[in-house]
Amino acid sequence: MTDARRGLILINTGPGKGKTTAAMGTGLRAVGNGMRVLMLQFLKGSWHYGELDAVQAFGGNWVMKQMGRGFVKIGGAETDPEDIRMVEAAWEEARQAIFSGDWDMVILDEINYAIGYNMLDPARVVEALQQKPEMVHVILTGRNAHPSLIEIADTVTEMREVKHAYQKGILAQRGIEY
Ligand code: ATP
Ligand code: MG
Repeated sequence: MTDARRGLILINTGPGKGKTTAAMGTGLRAVGNGMRVLMLQFLKGSWHYGELDAVQAFGGNWVMKQMGRGFVKIGGAETDPEDIRMVEAAWEEARQAIFSGDWDMVILDEINYAIGYNMLDPARVVEALQQKPEMVHVILTGRNAHPSLIEIADTVTEMREVKHAYQKGILAQRGIEY
C-alpha cells in the first residue's frame, strides 16, 4: 500500500448503462478538487448533450469536445474515410492533451468503440498511456475494451446490464441519456 499521489488509467466498459456517466461523475469530483479536466468524445457529434452546456459553468477547468459526427457505419471496408479521419484527429488531440501538462484528467469517451471498429490501433493508445506523465489521470469508456488496454489499466469497471428502459421500447430520455 502507498498513499503517494499518482495518475491512474481507468476503464469503464461492459454492456450496461453508465460508462460515460461514471466518467463524468469522476470529472466532477476532480474539478471540485481544483483539477483541470478535458473530455474528448470520440464518434459523438450529432446529438446535443446537456453536459456540453453544463461544463461551461466550470469555465476552462472542464472542457468537453465532440470529435465525431455521431453516426458511424460499422465494418472495415464500409467505414467512411471521413470518420477515420475524425478519429485520427481526436486521437492526435488526445495524445497531445495527455502530454501537454495542461490537464490533470483526460477522459477519452467512447474511444473503445473507435478501437473496436478498427478505426484506431490499440497499440498506439497502449504505447502513449505507458509513457504518459505520471500525474495525469486518463479514463477510457465504451463497450468491449481491448484486452491490451485492460492489461495496462489500474481500475477497470464492467457495467452489467440488469435491465434497460430501451427493452420496453422507451427511447432516450432528456436528462438521463442526453
Ligand atoms: P451513458 O452515456 O448513459 O452513461 P454508456 O456510456 O454506458 O451510457 P454507451 O455505450 O456509450 O453507454 O451508449 C450510449 C447510449 O446508449 C445511451 O443513450 C444509453 O442509455 C444507451 N445504452 C447504454 N446501455 C444500453 C443498453 N444496455 N441497452 C440499450 N441502450 C443502452
Ligand atoms: Mg458512453
